[in-house]
Amino acid sequence: MYFDEKTVLYFNNQYVKATEAKTGLFDQSLHYGYAVFEGIRSYATNNGPKIFKPIEHFERLKFSCDCVGIPLNYSTQQMIDISYEVLVKNNLEDAYLRPLVFCPPNMSLQKAKESFLMITAWSWGAYLGNNLIRVMTSNFQRPNPKAFKIHAKISGHYVNSILACQEAKDNGYDEALLLDINGNAAEGPGANLFVEKNGKLFTPPSNFILPGITRATVIEICKEIGIKVEEKNITVDEIKNADSAFYCGTAAEIIGWQSLDEYNFPKAWEESIGKIIQAAYKAKVLEQDFKMEMV
Ligand code: PMP
Repeated sequence: MYFDEKTVLYFNNQYVKATEAKTGLFDQSLHYGYAVFEGIRSYATNNGPKIFKPIEHFERLKFSCDCVGIPLNYSTQQMIDISYEVLVKNNLEDAYLRPLVFCPPNMSLQKAKESFLMITAWSWGAYLGNNLIRVMTSNFQRPNPKAFKIHAKISGHYVNSILACQEAKDNGYDEALLLDINGNAAEGPGANLFVEKNGKLFTPPSNFILPGITRATVIEICKEIGIKVEEKNITVDEIKNADSAFYCGTAAEIIGWQSLDEYNFPKAWEESIGKIIQAAYKAKVLEQDFKMEMV
């Protein structure tokens, strides 16, 4: 699914077949979740294949490495060039790119002295599908910022995401909403939250979330097309009083919510601000001009 016998990926300064690339069972990253990664998309635009916001993603990768003391000897431009090369070698245009920085064998709990960079790509549809999602308020909180560098995209953090996502699935929902340590809405296991109320969007502040590149793009789109947006703490009760809501993220793009727990959102998705944002986001990643008539 993610690779086949033809897939070529970048690993250890070379392009190798995915089926032949190997790593070790004693890697510090495997044992302790001590690795960092990115999730990036490229799109088949009229101007050729274009990676969306590559500088932002690779700067975040470097930031994540800095946060946990993993050395990374690549410049942003080098990693962008490698990513385009991976797309070419695999004949991909519309694709999801997964850079992973991980560390060699080490059973100590000290920072790594060297790291490996892997960049691979595969075709991937919208991560949460294309239908409105039914969301469950999770019993799992997002990690405490005093316990983890929560603004970094660190592999080990995703155990928290797996717990929340699986709990939601086990209860018959599509996805989870995690709260922060104060009980306010934070984000999904792999996406950020926007809520619509009285013609305005609200999104949780960046304190307790991974402040996504898509979230920043949504805020940018709001400014461009004149939609009011405010960062503020949002309670579950406020969401259950809202008109509409959506998640956003690189893999999920923009995906509307049908419900939170027992609460169904009253505004039809077709009439919501989320629907406008979804169309404007699509236009942006495809490098097209956005017009309201496109909605
Ligand atoms: N929150 C979490 C926990 C995530 O894993 C992601 C996906 N990277 C996001 C938010 C959205 O981030 P982005 O828009 O940068 O993909």
